[in-house]
Amino acid sequence: MTERDRSSAGQGPRATLARGNPRGMTTALGGLGPGATIGVLGGGQLGRMMAVVARQMGYRIIVLDPSPRCPTAQVSDGVVVGALDDLEAAKHLAGQVDVITLDTEHVPADVLTALEAIVPVRPNAAVLRTIQDRLVQKQFLDRLGLPQAAWAPVDDIHAALAKVGRPAILKVRRAGYDGKGQQRIGPGDDPLALLARLHGEPAVAEEVVEFTREISVILARGLDGQIQIYPVAENVHRRHILHTTRVPAPMPAARRAAAEAMAVSVAEALEHVGVMAVEMFELADGRLLVNEIAPRTHNSGHYTYGACATSQFEQHIRAVCGVPLGDPRPLTGAVMVNLIGDLWDRGPPAWHEVLARPEARLHLYGKDAPSPGRKMGHIVLLDDDSDRALATAESLIATLRARS
Ligand code: ADP
Ligand code: MG
Repeated sequence: MTERDRSSAGQGPRATLARGNPRGMTTALGGLGPGATIGVLGGGQLGRMMAVVARQMGYRIIVLDPSPRCPTAQVSDGVVVGALDDLEAAKHLAGQVDVITLDTEHVPADVLTALEAIVPVRPNAAVLRTIQDRLVQKQFLDRLGLPQAAWAPVDDIHAALAKVGRPAILKVRRAGYDGKGQQRIGPGDDPLALLARLHGEPAVAEEVVEFTREISVILARGLDGQIQIYPVAENVHRRHILHTTRVPAPMPAARRAAAEAMAVSVAEALEHVGVMAVEMFELADGRLLVNEIAPRTHNSGHYTYGACATSQFEQHIRAVCGVPLGDPRPLTGAVMVNLIGDLWDRGPPAWHEVLARPEARLHLYGKDAPSPGRKMGHIVLLDDDSDRALATAESLIATLRARS
């Protein structure tokens, strides 16, 4: 990061407002009220949607990201240009904000520990240390007694496969997302050749679960420990990337309660502050296995922006600022469908097909390079008939692709 980059945040009137909430903008209930400045580590679409609602509520946002044109910076009050492991850049951000939060769990926990000496970091370094290494996360879930797919550390690949069986999935312990850093090992495959594709990254092995569907529970835990839970979401992935979310997921009340209880036990054990998503596999006999935990707003919660009284983004801002949580109540059923870079293969999609539908909400993240597999935006269909909305989602995607 250059000095010029360093000074790019907080110039002019923004800088004078930022540090230490100088206008005394705390709420009567405690916490950081509107007017306070929130720092976001990572400038992707989650940070962008947080920034939009934060600014709507009168908060200020400064983001740390390697790109000054990242999705979050486009809608923020300031940007500090630097990598997420650039401690000096992160400290420069910390010096200008009242609280720090995250757009991604892939910020080194050591960086967060250093920042905690300057300003509150929510979620904190301890939460990230547990979550950002898949092995540590799985040990944590085992300690909580929550059911998971059979898993094993990959010290010796043959021993790991002996434990989890075949087919299996290898996952890198750190920094994987959207199926990146994963290799499936079928019965006839050479495990060493597939392991080599992970370039020596430490990994875990998991049994392949024959789930009937995937669900997620999104909740928020406030600074005071209060928890608010969103309706359970049903998720379909394609090529390991989320494709659609349908809400509410049709399911028996007892199973929904079991899913919610598992997510609450995770949030409480971590003493998490902010929004959290717990992804689960549902089996044919109704049992639920925890797949993974995301200590942040989540793609399967995008529908909340429009379909719920308080979106997951507003809820996260409220939680990390220590003000009362909002009402997560759904106002309508909804389906979300992701817009992946492949849709741009033959030029920009014909957005008027989406805009012409009264129930459709278009979100684009301001990314300028639509590469295959990259999340570029999403559509939310506000519709109490979720079967109809799922059909509409598929036909919209087909139309956008055909017209592109
Ligand atoms: P990430 O979301 O970080 O890329 P996940 O572990 O959630 O990683 O994997 C992405 C998707 O791949 C899951 O949502 C699921 O569809 C599929 N998947 C992952 N692990 C398994 C498994 N053990 N069995 C079956 N499918 C899996
Ligand atoms: Mg996942």
